[in-house]
Amino acid sequence: MSTLNPARVAREFPSRYRLEAARCEKCGAVAFPARLVCPSCHGRKFAKVALVPEGKVLTWTVIHVGPSSHKYEVPYVLAVVELAGGVRLTCQVADVDPAKVEAGMKVRLEFRRIQEDGEAGVIAYGHKGVPA
Ligand SMILES: [Zn+2]
Repeated sequence: MSTLNPARVAREFPSRYRLEAARCEKCGAVAFPARLVCPSCHGRKFAKVALVPEGKVLTWTVIHVGPSSHKYEVPYVLAVVELAGGVRLTCQVADVDPAKVEAGMKVRLEFRRIQEDGEAGVIAYGHKGVPA
């Protein structure tokens, strides 16, 4: 079964790829990915802001049995990373021994191939954290 929705990939490109967030012009809250309505104040006007691709691991898990699109990568680390400014995102942490990941570990986000979907023919790119 296809795990990627090509329409969604196209819609979220390019803001996800460029780490482009939206800052609410009313209250200053930063949302990533961008939203139509501010989750804090329900404002609807936003300014684009570029996120700094550096942060730290807040929490993580090690995936030993992954989806078929990631079967050659197991075990791999999936983490919640907090970027400077407080934006949090979930991403894979690569180039690291899963046993060595720890809370507060500094990571840098790099643009990499995330998965390939044979049925839909979509290759998804995105960010992975790597030890900084
Ligand atoms: Zn707001």
